[in-house]
Amino acid sequence: MNNELRKIPSTQRLISEKRIEQLTRVYPRSLILELIHRRLDSVRLSITGGKQCPSLDEITESVCSDVHLLLQSSLRPVINATGVILQTNLGRAPLSQDAIAAMGNISQGYSNLEYELGTAIRGSRHSHVEQLLQLLTGAEAALVVNNNASAILLVLTALAKKKETIISRSQSVEIGDGFRIPDIMRQSGTKLVEVGTTNCTYLADYENAVTTRTAALMRVHPSNFKITGFTSSVELVDMVNLARKHDLPVFDDMGSGCFLDTAQFGLEPEETVAQSVTAGAAVTLFSGDKLLGGPQAGIIVGQKKYIDKLKKHPLTRATRIDKIRLAGLIATLIHYLKGEAVHKIPIWRMIATPLEEIEKRAITWSVPFEGVAQIVDGETMIGGGSLPGIKLPTKLLAIGKVRRNENPHIARDLSIKLRCSDIPILGRIADDILLLDPRTVLPEEDKLVIEALKSTNGSARSEESPDSK
Ligand SMILES: *Cc1c(COP(=O)(O)O)cnc(C)c1O
Repeated sequence: MNNELRKIPSTQRLISEKRIEQLTRVYPRSLILELIHRRLDSVRLSITGGKQCPSLDEITESVCSDVHLLLQSSLRPVINATGVILQTNLGRAPLSQDAIAAMGNISQGYSNLEYELGTAIRGSRHSHVEQLLQLLTGAEAALVVNNNASAILLVLTALAKKKETIISRSQSVEIGDGFRIPDIMRQSGTKLVEVGTTNCTYLADYENAVTTRTAALMRVHPSNFKITGFTSSVELVDMVNLARKHDLPVFDDMGSGCFLDTAQFGLEPEETVAQSVTAGAAVTLFSGDKLLGGPQAGIIVGQKKYIDKLKKHPLTRATRIDKIRLAGLIATLIHYLKGEAVHKIPIWRMIATPLEEIEKRAITWSVPFEGVAQIVDGETMIGGGSLPGIKLPTKLLAIGKVRRNENPHIARDLSIKLRCSDIPILGRIADDILLLDPRTVLPEEDKLVIEALKSTNGSARSEESPDSK
């Protein structure tokens, strides 16, 4: 047997170590034993991999930190200074104060989630948002489910199963993380009929594909890419007119689902949900946590006869939204109805922040880094599978070596330190320069950023590489 393996302490030896023994008085002994076993397994594995056995003290320390790490949630807030407003990896849209309060309020006790207070009979959870969505989009009816992916699955299963759904080849896309339109179509049991070519699809392509087996025409927003050059696509209203001739519905997956005129912020105009409804889509689908700026949800608005069918489908139950997110979504929709979305919803506040204000904040952030920091022009991305490639001008705090003899790793070292602060701060590195974008940071978080930057300063400069002297 490997000599190092013999050095591994026994479980009994470890549990009688004072620091671990103390833990067993606070937490269940069985939990501590399990974590000791897991730690010893990993020690064994590393020894087989050629490593030496750590000391008893080191193993004890590891077990204690395993216990502490486990008992604090690994899911925690971070500060997003990456310059991408909507990032799926960072939890997409931060919520408004009203939405957060509504979610807290409704989770505290019981609610009339499915109970009609007036008549004391069973109600529907969908009733709480339907009217809001009708007023905001002009649609006859609405339904909210877990997320947009489940909305697509539900619509295709309930309305197109065992039949054919026609889609332009340029829209048969991968949304991200392996989520692909052709796969979800297969999953739902509808047959995908791709028409046109990657860059060009004409109305005649759809027309030629319609048969007695057709269930619907579908449009999918190319959320995360852009085809430029020689291209041609069909307007939604023309798809609707063609579909009507054959008494067929059009499903419109808008992806992000925008309620505001994006041109007012200097962005490229983005079709709104109301425009999709007006154009005559049978159902329009979008996410709650992209440009809407609410919690995760899949929202379906459209014609009553189709929404009614969806409401009765078993998948609606399987994909239903919980009361907490429903409360947050309602509060978010109310911001739009009150005309205060731009001031109250964080992502719209970020988009609408004037450049001068961002520059001021970047300057305040830069104070601890005099000499190694600069304010530079940059671009904020909307991201999150919405407004592909659309960027807003911004001002970035850029930290990195300025002089040739300086530590070339300032940016990397600093970015690691910021990532490991109490509330991790995330930026991006380009050409050995750390870039921090104030636009994607909530102004309320500035104090935390400044504190974290202050506490890392000095260290960024004192770690100058020896050869730079
Ligand atoms: C983001 C996106 C989806 C998936 O939405 P989720 O809410 O993440 O499930 C579907 N379709 C399009 C076009 C999207 O952009």
